[in-house]
Amino acid sequence: MAYLEIADLKKSFGANQVVKAFDLGVERGEFVSLLGPSGCGKTTVLRMVAGFETPSSGSIRMDGQEVARLPPNQRNVGMVFQAYALFPNMTVAENIGFGLKIAKRPQASIAKRVGQMLEMIKLPHIADRYPFQLSGGQQQRVAIARALAVEPKILLLDEPLSALDAKIRVSLREEIRALQKELGITTLFVTHDQEEALSMSDRIVVMSEGRMEQVGTPFEIYNFPRTRFVASFVGTLNLLKGRILDAGSGRLLVADQEIGVAGGFPGRSTGEEATLALRPEGIRLCDGTGDANRLNGVIEDVGFHGPIVRIRVRCQDTVISLDSFNSPSSQLPERGAAATVAFPRDVLVLADA
Ligand code: ADP
Ligand code: MG
Repeated sequence: MAYLEIADLKKSFGANQVVKAFDLGVERGEFVSLLGPSGCGKTTVLRMVAGFETPSSGSIRMDGQEVARLPPNQRNVGMVFQAYALFPNMTVAENIGFGLKIAKRPQASIAKRVGQMLEMIKLPHIADRYPFQLSGGQQQRVAIARALAVEPKILLLDEPLSALDAKIRVSLREEIRALQKELGITTLFVTHDQEEALSMSDRIVVMSEGRMEQVGTPFEIYNFPRTRFVASFVGTLNLLKGRILDAGSGRLLVADQEIGVAGGFPGRSTGEEATLALRPEGIRLCDGTGDANRLNGVIEDVGFHGPIVRIRVRCQDTVISLDSFNSPSSQLPERGAAATVAFPRDVLVLADA
């Protein structure tokens, strides 16, 4: 059994079921993100793990012990929230030592632990300051130190970076991940930011409307999304809708043109619709020869982003977006010109047509 084992967890508020059959095992020391749009139930899952919300049904086991119906203070979890939840009338040292004081630890041992925590977050000189004297990034580091001071079994982070400036957000990502690895603390991290989830996690749970859409490593989630929702939420993606001409050989009609899909369409029938997912970086403009898949269309837009040129090609109702690298020695394509896009046959077929 995993260190944190969540089974068939459900939560309704009145008639509104906001978490539907959530199942997840998190290994000791693992960093798992819950990723999904606002309102999909991420915080509710975290609050049930913390004990701030009682599940409608289901089980939560930590280190083998069933905790789903225990109060928060008997669960030994540390939680950090989006908005800085430091006590404004306490110094940094008092904030970090708060949980230890509640646990009636001796003064000297609290002081020692607070010192260690301040070293750990690389802010040894701020012990006597008040929260309002700190930057947003410093406040979140203190909030993390406070959560970790009591040596929790599990660390829960609810969008801890989303209120911060872009630059600090990126550097704190790395800091949090480094700290988590160093301590080996089992962590559940909530975010709606796909880049954050991709860059920080061992595994990601993609959620939509209270449901788990897919669980996998960042590599798996990005490269092999199973559903249309995951594909479009996790990256800029081209969805090609087509009609299967031959399920066995993988022939498909898209925008009145025939393409081929390696591996065919197992479990599908000829004549059915199918949706393919293509990432912009896997597609290129070509001169119309070669054995890859090709679709003819017209250049609809050319976006210059410095290192990358993003080109949109329309083939009837299908619009394909592709990225090419800037090259000072070649001209940008022209809007309205005929163009052929090429992409490999091993494209992804989504599970939902
Ligand atoms: P997320 O963190 O993914 O944005 P939440 O877990 O906060 O989503 O909320 C999921 C859904 O549950 C939302 O529709 C929200 O309005 C609803 N919800 C959350 N908490 C409560 C509550 N205490 N009472 C009623 N509805 C709630
Ligand atoms: Mg939330």
